[in-house]
Amino acid sequence: MARFRNPVPEAVEALRIELAGGPRAELIPEVQLLADLLGGRAERLRPKEEPERELLAAFPDAAAVIGKDGRVRVANVPADALAAGGRAAGMTVLELTRSAELADAVQRALEGTARKLELQLPGAHRTFVAHLTPLLRGEVLVLLRDVTQSREAERARRDLVANASHELRTPVTAIHGAAETLLGGALGDPDQARRFVEMIARHADRLARLTRDLLDLSRIESGQWAMNVAPLDAVPLAVNALELYAAAAAERRLRLERSLPARLLVRADPRALEQVLVNLLDNAIKYTPAGGAVTLSAQAEEQSAILAVSDTGQGIDRHHLPRLFERFYRADAGRARDQGGTGLGLAIVKHLAQAQGGSVGVESGAGGSRFWVRLRLAG
Ligand code: ADP
Repeated sequence: MARFRNPVPEAVEALRIELAGGPRAELIPEVQLLADLLGGRAERLRPKEEPERELLAAFPDAAAVIGKDGRVRVANVPADALAAGGRAAGMTVLELTRSAELADAVQRALEGTARKLELQLPGAHRTFVAHLTPLLRGEVLVLLRDVTQSREAERARRDLVANASHELRTPVTAIHGAAETLLGGALGDPDQARRFVEMIARHADRLARLTRDLLDLSRIESGQWAMNVAPLDAVPLAVNALELYAAAAAERRLRLERSLPARLLVRADPRALEQVLVNLLDNAIKYTPAGGAVTLSAQAEEQSAILAVSDTGQGIDRHHLPRLFERFYRADAGRARDQGGTGLGLAIVKHLAQAQGGSVGVESGAGGSRFWVRLRLAG
């Protein structure tokens, strides 16, 4: 009599062999049917959150579905990243974000009110826009968009417009006043007329410098200043820049010195590098009292080239240094304006250096200041 054979262990063994790379398992129809039925059941039991998880994963922002119990039921990766333990599911909104304001708004959304609010998450130093949408099942979809960068950019733009208007107002007012005085009768007096026309010329010059610097900055920032960064010898460029300032230095009784190697191959854009050196020399000459010295030096240091302008001026108070490269920042506003400064020279230096893959810095003390630019060595 044939021995009764149990088809299940046989099918299990055959499938194991197949999955280990063996031949395809022959399954009797009953076992195949059982497999199909089990597959169907698994499909039915698959957690309902799978499609939701897929949907949330498509959002670039933090997104989570909050259940009626006020706890996160499903969350995407950016929302998980907000959780201290890296997993948002199961946490209340307050636990997840530590924002009572958001927790409150979610509570109201659970009662059916959609909301949009902007908030700072405690401890995160970031600004978020939260969209809270009640869902059909009485749950709430929370979307949190990190808008820190765009808010900072908006603030910087507002500050720039305010600062630029403020800077432009002085020369415009002066020109206006001088022209009115001339028209009001001063034209008839040659001495007075000359004085006011000189005033107009001086302030028009200031206006021209301000608008030129502002345009340069906006061109660099918007990428319109087409950088052509390639290997070049910085030494002839440095010599050129020194020559541009020979007359100004002599006029101010300053020694203009150099400490340059025979050759220094850097990766730079020639026009940008020239502008950087010109701005630094211009400042050193402006802010160093007669009898002093201004030195342009260049040297290789590890993988970088350092070009520096040092002076024997009175130095800059330490608390100004971290902000010196900001637009319109002046260490000594009255003196800087008297010298015809726009307050943009160092901001331009910084942006140009960065656009060439470099960086900038300053050291300053009682004996003077040293402004440097670090560029990549070529080759
Ligand atoms: P400005 O057009 O006013 O010179 P910059 O952006 O070039 O603007 O410089 C910002 C400020 O840094 C200046 O107003 C001045 O106070 C200070 N500064 C720059 N270079 C020097 C220097 N070599 N010595 C002393 N102070 C300097």
